[in-house]
Amino acid sequence: MTPIVSLVGRPNVGKSTLFNRMTRSRDAIVADMPGLTRDRHYGMLRMADRPVIVVDTGGFEPVVDTGIVHQMARQTRQAIAESDLVVFLVDLRTGLSPQDLHIAAELRKTGKPILLAVNKAEGRHGHPALAEFHELGLGEPFSISAAHGDSVPDLLDRILQAL
Ligand code: GDP
Ligand code: MG
Repeated sequence: MTPIVSLVGRPNVGKSTLFNRMTRSRDAIVADMPGLTRDRHYGMLRMADRPVIVVDTGGFEPVVDTGIVHQMARQTRQAIAESDLVVFLVDLRTGLSPQDLHIAAELRKTGKPILLAVNKAEGRHGHPALAEFHELGLGEPFSISAAHGDSVPDLLDRILQAL
């Protein structure tokens, strides 16, 4: 079975940017599956000669709840359920948000392996602001820049090691 890696996070953290960078490689096949949803975008790529399917999840639908709580859309839950690994993306520029904490709690409940990646970290790797993401309880925050490519190869290595 080809392992499936899903990219999860609230809107605007850079999931699609990371997906595009990962699937831009020579070996990538990106396919929209119209029968499913425009919010789930699949790409097949080879990492160190291993085929991996990457899923760009877009669907977090705001739910009127306590006002700040947003619930994961069903589509995103399904993508996570079929994943072997979740890359949870957060945004260093906006910092930790209540929605990040909520998503982290949901992800922990799934029992799936999770890699925490702090995006938009160009020029700020090792920055003290990274420390606040420890609060997510998902281990050491790993800083990347999906837009610039910083540390994306290292993230791919970590993904491979975790699969
Ligand atoms: P998504 O909603 O999680 O899929 O986020 P997008 O990939 O659409 O990105 C949202 C915005 O963040 C866009 O304007 C991107 O250009 C920007 N962005 C994504 N990655 C980075 C990054 O590494 N650094 C910076 N500065 N901006 C980024
Ligand atoms: Mg997107």
